[in-house]
Amino acid sequence: MGRKHRREPERNADRPAFFTYRDVENFRGEEWVVQTVTGSAATKTYRCPGCDHEIRPATPHVVAYPAQGLGGVEARRHWHKPCWAARHHRGPRH
Ligand SMILES: [Zn+2]
Repeated sequence: MGRKHRREPERNADRPAFFTYRDVENFRGEEWVVQTVTGSAATKTYRCPGCDHEIRPATPHVVAYPAQGLGGVEARRHWHKPCWAARHHRGPRH
């Protein structure tokens, strides 16, 4: 594999291409970084904490993780978009 890719003049290369949108929103009294994952970047099945159903591969969805902190990959939660939007009403079930 050669390194033939030319660098783009813009700085967009600094962030992963599959995150098209990034924001900080409030959830359960904490700030969460929220990013949209496109369908083409969604290659695994995740379980949505809002509805406790699966998010199938190729489904556009959001990934959220605590803005403060410790959060590594394990702290990330994948949500259906409507479930994230309704998170204050539904909340994770335990
Ligand atoms: Zn859901």
